[in-house]
Amino acid sequence: MKTKLGLLYGGKSAEHHVSMQTAMAVIKALDLKEFDIHPIYITEEGAWIKGPQLTGPVESVTELAYSGETSIAPIVLSQASVLAEDGTGSNDGGFDVIFPLLHGPNGEDGTVQGMLELLNLPYVGNGVLASSAGMDKVIMKNIFAQSGLSQVKYTWFIRSDWEKSREAAYQKVEDELGYPCFVKPANLGSSVGISKCASKAELERAFEEAFQFDRKIIVEEGIVAREVEIGILGNDEAECSVAGEIIPKEDFYDYKAKYEDGNTALVIPAEISDQEYNLLTEMAATAFKALDCSGLVRADFFLTKDGKPYINEVNTMPGFTPFSMFPLLWKHTGVEYPKLIERLVKLAKERHEEKQ
Ligand code: ADP
Ligand code: MG
Ligand code: MG
Repeated sequence: MKTKLGLLYGGKSAEHHVSMQTAMAVIKALDLKEFDIHPIYITEEGAWIKGPQLTGPVESVTELAYSGETSIAPIVLSQASVLAEDGTGSNDGGFDVIFPLLHGPNGEDGTVQGMLELLNLPYVGNGVLASSAGMDKVIMKNIFAQSGLSQVKYTWFIRSDWEKSREAAYQKVEDELGYPCFVKPANLGSSVGISKCASKAELERAFEEAFQFDRKIIVEEGIVAREVEIGILGNDEAECSVAGEIIPKEDFYDYKAKYEDGNTALVIPAEISDQEYNLLTEMAATAFKALDCSGLVRADFFLTKDGKPYINEVNTMPGFTPFSMFPLLWKHTGVEYPKLIERLVKLAKERHEEKQ
């Protein structure tokens, strides 16, 4: 029996196009003897499109989906129609697994995961709690702090408080963190809305900028350190990949460096000592457990010159093109892209069964 796999891609986020590329790559990598692939495209406006209506901006994916040579079967699905098909929440005749290839808010933050829970559908990756806690940098860091993980100093604000007393907010940052500091929207990714500040004037601008994206922001002490990342795969028993290092050409790893200029070097495996690697994997496993993660996570660290590690964040749906850090880390660990996808689908099924 083939696995009926629904691929959710696109989405209302800054990573819309990245997600489309990922969908293409995943479709190409899947063994069509094993999988029936059902593409489900989410437009930039948030509409769900499926089946024969899939045209236009998703041409390349659609072409693959409808070329007679593959066994990719277009079928009809929308949030509402799936719910309407079977109000009992059972999954008879539906998908075997959904793979949400979505990043950022409304994709990686637990909302889609919640819908899939209600539909009783197995899905790849993290559940509702880990997804939403991992999306909110303040909540994530609070949980990490409670687990004893070392982090840079941070503080946070909501928009309405800042509007009431801006000077008090800036003062708090200067007293507690100083410069340089990083200002970030709490619930975002891909470096969108993030600024590095070296002065009060920059701090003011950074607050304005970050609050355009979120009603909550986080401010962190700026650190001079290498950026080292580790992939984790598993459910209750999680496995760590080799470590990789990001060497951005720009001042920091901003949106442009991530998606536009292609200048950022990925060094895999990272040139770190065994002792440093052991420390990082220990911290990665602690973070994975603390957020109750499942399926996959990419844990990102700062590593100072004298070998002191700080956890920066985990990403519950890391970049997943074949050239992204997470798949490359696993490739170097001995798990090729098609195998990686199969592992994730298997983990999704296992977690679903465990819950029943
Ligand atoms: P995102 O979730 O958008 O990737 P990050 O918190 O990872 O946000 O920040 C993006 C990039 O900004 C990091 O990869 C790093 O280059 C830089 N950065 C973020 N926070 C700090 C910090 N506290 N000190 C130094 N650099 C930072
Ligand atoms: Mg992130
Ligand atoms: Mg990051």
